[in-house]
Amino acid sequence: MAYPHELPDLGYGYDALEPHIDARTMEIHHSKHHQAYTNKLNQALEGRKDLHGFTAEQLLRGFNGLPGEVQGAVRDQGGGFENHRLFWEVIAPGGSDRPSGELASAIDDAFGSFDAFKEKFSSTAAGQFGSGWGWLVVCPFGTLQAISTPNQDSPLMDGHTPILGVDVWEHAYYLKYQNRRPDYLKAFWNVVNWDVVGKKFQDAKGGWVRNV
Ligand code: MN
Repeated sequence: MAYPHELPDLGYGYDALEPHIDARTMEIHHSKHHQAYTNKLNQALEGRKDLHGFTAEQLLRGFNGLPGEVQGAVRDQGGGFENHRLFWEVIAPGGSDRPSGELASAIDDAFGSFDAFKEKFSSTAAGQFGSGWGWLVVCPFGTLQAISTPNQDSPLMDGHTPILGVDVWEHAYYLKYQNRRPDYLKAFWNVVNWDVVGKKFQDAKGGWVRNV
């Protein structure tokens, strides 16, 4: 959806991820934090009718071509909007508890094993200084990588397509886990919906088929 950008419905209850992510955190995170990014993105783009036809994903992918005066808002508010949109999808209840098919093979190829991937993803996210995100991304030319970004910076700005993300801002875990980011990251594996991630992998790698 393009302008005005709208807060997406979770599609599940705030208490659906208990005990791993508590209902109060989910409610504040979605209805306050994500709503604020949405509102501020819309405010920043209000007078830019030339950009109203584009989704947040498109604005972030084309970041370097945006007018300078909107880049800051697209980076922070557009990034916040799009990062959370993906986050709610990949932690939706249900689905497989581990990757399968082509995604499982690609993870083995890139990281050695699923366990080695989890270790790399968690340590990368835990090591992000201050606020930010941990990601599993499909890189340009189709390979997988575990990266982190500061603040609300989106991997889309660098040509990466995120297929799994974990929010490591304190607002994502502080009520339940306080300063224990590693404990939150450990619990995170219990809520990942690998069917959704697998679908995102298929969509993302489709753009990077070799022409031979
Ligand atoms: Mn957040």
